[in-house]
Amino acid sequence: MIRVYALCTGFIELDRASMLSDLAPGQPWTVPVMSFLVDHPRGRLLFDTGVHCQARIDPVGRLGAERVKRLTVKSGEGDDVVPRLATLGLKPDDVRYVANSHLHFDHCGGNEFFPKATFLVQRPELEAARRPGFVPSYSPSPIDFDHPLDYRMLDGEHDVFGDGAVLLIPTYGHTPGHQSLRVRTGKSAEMVCASDACYTRENMDRDVLPKILWDARVMHDSLATLRKLRDQTGATMFYGHDPAQWAEIPRAPAPVL
Ligand SMILES: [Zn+2]
Repeated sequence: MIRVYALCTGFIELDRASMLSDLAPGQPWTVPVMSFLVDHPRGRLLFDTGVHCQARIDPVGRLGAERVKRLTVKSGEGDDVVPRLATLGLKPDDVRYVANSHLHFDHCGGNEFFPKATFLVQRPELEAARRPGFVPSYSPSPIDFDHPLDYRMLDGEHDVFGDGAVLLIPTYGHTPGHQSLRVRTGKSAEMVCASDACYTRENMDRDVLPKILWDARVMHDSLATLRKLRDQTGATMFYGHDPAQWAEIPRAPAPVL
């Protein structure tokens, strides 16, 4: 049996207009940082590792002065991914695979805590991240992802356990190699974790992109693909940073699927 758990690994405050680019600036908004744990008979997959615990202790030192101008980490002690996993009775070594949707600091900050896992990242994402300044408007921090970890580069869709149940799907655009997670456990049970290919339900419903992106046209196509999965295939959509959704979904140790 496959189970999926939603973990909130902290909170970030930023300007709402950075997430919904057609709004007027000046509205501070606190949003959750989401990770998901998939428990499959052949192993566990963690989708995203959240913000590094050091970012709430020394924000400027960890994130840099520029980023701290744009956002504030609002997480508390115990919000990080390792204590969140502990609420499921799990330690980092119990996780076989870690997939990063992308390599922004709030999605791979906890990578270093999983030295025994196999990391699954899209090839254009890792290649761009390893060449700072090579891809315009994309410069993740090496301190978050550049550790001696077993990174495997994926070229498009990837079937994690080989049975079609847990798929990583390319949803490029927010960054050069962003990916989302699709889990199918039968005809009626299907879910997609969009991550930052779609921050909130409002982005999808109103077809509005955020300000933070790599390529607007590519991101718009990815958003349309995800909308189809939600509205035509009937998948339950989990958005990347949607406070309204986080307020209403089952919390670990209760599963969402
Ligand atoms: Zn994010």
